[in-house]
Amino acid sequence: MSKIVLKNVLVEIDGDEMTRVIWQMIKEKLLFPYIDLNLEYYDLHVKSRDNTDDQITVDAANAIIKHGVGVKCATITPDAGRVTEYNLKKAWRSPNGTIRAILDGTVFRKPVLVNNIPPAVLSWKKPITIARHAFGDIYKATEARVKGPAKVELTITDADGVHAQVINEFKGDGIVLGMFNTDKSIRSYAKSCIKFAISEKTELWFSAKDTIAKIYDGRFRDIFMEEVEESKAELDAAGVNFRYLLIDDAVAQIMKHPGGVLWACKNYDGDVFSDMVAAGFGSLGMMTSVLVSPDGKFEYEAAHGTVRRHYMEHLKGNATSTNSVASIFAWTGAIRKRGELDGVKEAMDFADKLEASVLENIESGVMTKDLVFLAQPKPEKYVNTAEFLDAVAAKLAEKLNN
Ligand code: NAP
Ligand code: MG
Repeated sequence: MSKIVLKNVLVEIDGDEMTRVIWQMIKEKLLFPYIDLNLEYYDLHVKSRDNTDDQITVDAANAIIKHGVGVKCATITPDAGRVTEYNLKKAWRSPNGTIRAILDGTVFRKPVLVNNIPPAVLSWKKPITIARHAFGDIYKATEARVKGPAKVELTITDADGVHAQVINEFKGDGIVLGMFNTDKSIRSYAKSCIKFAISEKTELWFSAKDTIAKIYDGRFRDIFMEEVEESKAELDAAGVNFRYLLIDDAVAQIMKHPGGVLWACKNYDGDVFSDMVAAGFGSLGMMTSVLVSPDGKFEYEAAHGTVRRHYMEHLKGNATSTNSVASIFAWTGAIRKRGELDGVKEAMDFADKLEASVLENIESGVMTKDLVFLAQPKPEKYVNTAEFLDAVAAKLAEKLNN
């Protein structure tokens, strides 16, 4: 069998600890035997970031902008403990934060579903993808305690002068919070959500509370609607239906919904509901994450971290049972997208077959420890990290030789 060849560059971003070990195994066991990935490699190992004063992270982000598709392994975000552990010059910024800022992108979290792990919510049959507008609102707010009696005002100073409105006349003590957002950031967010909904051909929801915050949330709603109108032809062609919902209505509906929806949330709602949906679907090892820029550049990764506790076991020479599904799906997502953009259908078929090999194994009872407690029926034993990947490799070989 001749190898599939990707036409254009796929940007590979390597990472840390247990996920770095798994990353290598995925390439050797599942990818390199069958597909020439035309990779451009960026090593974001925490030491490599330190040695380059984090320039490597900036280079990797720019490579995604240039080539359009990347795949990223989980990386350490250094804190004081990591600075000592790896003898770093300083606690470098979160690589995901740096890449997201350069791409001006939005993160979408999407679970991988298997039929023997029932979601906590019985109606959920298809993935629910959450988008969080990770800018502004209470995360960049200014807040203060008020010692009453006091008058608190909202003052805007612009080219026309000073405009003030009274927020509250305090008789006693209290609290105040001022938050903001920008049209530019909301618009980029809306564009990224639309790009991803089209890419996934999935229903798109945007929720806010514009009945109460008529100007603030109303502005979010209006910008979203304008962008949807702007992309109407593309959305229609992909069969994507858009709905604006009040946040409370969205929450009520999602609990009875079959899934298969991309739910775009404001910052706080996205923070809260992404954790609710992730918990509802089961294991972190099954949660993928995609970063999408407003002009349609894609970076695929696992939503979990570097699984440090397992890495410590691995270093002692002990076998681990680390779930590789989200990392494998990061690769298949990127390969499918590259194939789609370049018109290489064999690459898209390969991604489908690799994903099917993963799902069929789990559905036949071959799974890592984290899933054993969630599966119904509960399998008698679990497999270790390498055994799972070997079982996937065997299934994949069967599928590709047919
Ligand atoms: P973590 O790597 O997500 O792991 C936390 C725990 O969740 C693990 O100890 C394990 O539980 C379970 N888990 C996560 N992924 C799993 C998998 N694939 N298979 C099986 N179990 C899994 O979080 P962390 O240990 O708090 O963080 C480690 C490092 O990751 C940190 O340096 C952090 O900065 C970084 N991080 C990176 C990203 C990213 O690059 N996207 C995201 C988050 C965190 P048990 O121990 O109970 O088995
Ligand atoms: Mg949260």
